[in-house]
Amino acid sequence: AADVHLPLTSIPDLAVDLPSPLATLDARGITAWFGDHQVLDRVSLTMPAGEVTALIGPSGCGKSTFLRILNRMHELVPSASLAGEVLLDGVDIYDTGRRLTEARRDIGMVFQKPNPFPAMSIYDNVVAGLKLTGIRASRDEKDHLVERSLTSAGLWKEVKDRLRQPGGGLSGGQQQRLCIARSLAVKPKVLLMDEPCSALDPTSTRVIEETMGELQKEVTIVIVTHNMQQAQRVSQQCAFFLASQGQPGHIVEHGDTAEMFDAPIDPRTYDYVNGRF
Ligand code: ADP
Ligand code: MG
Repeated sequence: AADVHLPLTSIPDLAVDLPSPLATLDARGITAWFGDHQVLDRVSLTMPAGEVTALIGPSGCGKSTFLRILNRMHELVPSASLAGEVLLDGVDIYDTGRRLTEARRDIGMVFQKPNPFPAMSIYDNVVAGLKLTGIRASRDEKDHLVERSLTSAGLWKEVKDRLRQPGGGLSGGQQQRLCIARSLAVKPKVLLMDEPCSALDPTSTRVIEETMGELQKEVTIVIVTHNMQQAQRVSQQCAFFLASQGQPGHIVEHGDTAEMFDAPIDPRTYDYVNGRF
């Protein structure tokens, strides 16, 4: 509740195009429950600075839960609990001394279904996260942020002449890039993407994949995908999650993406990446 009344603070470097230092996200021994239903068991994974890490595995194995733990959304579910640590460049994001808004500002999230505010203008959609995460910006700073964020999301050229039109008027693929721009506007260190292309056509998917190649130079990316070709195209690291025979979700195997697809160690990984499961 204290966060709601957070005084707005200026963050001067927001309006400057200095690259933010890239950050590594480290999950250690993450175990998670909904009530007494355990859904993750001791998941440890390093998501290196400047790389794209892909999380793959069948539905229900806890990938989305894991992502929500990485930006403190899991705790919004009343029945949810967890053990373990999440470190962003060595700093525990669950440290109670840090404000929740700060942790959320550092770690942005994009969902499967694009969710811009449909009636809100494209411009206002991009800056929507500023106030929520405690950032005050002048009109000029906002103009600059909007251009920079839309450029990074690969959408600027398509929308620069209609920034005052509603976000809901864009195509599905453009709406998803608008959501990426909205996440980027607060200069996060990590961008979490939960099946960001599952609701999109192949052309829009390709545009987003191309955008990610540039994006990873400014933000560490973690993506959940069911598309094995996509995992190979966009990621350098890969983790295979499984929740077999009533076991909670856990990582069977992780490492370099090319190695994992070319020479998986575990036969279950082999079957999954080859479409046999
Ligand atoms: P995935 O993203 O890999 O498909 P999820 O993280 O969505 O898996 O789900 C993992 C498990 O947690 C599933 O058994 C699912 O039913 C359960 N689960 C997910 N969200 C909730 C929730 N809000 N309340 C109770 N159970 C949930
Ligand atoms: Mg999911």
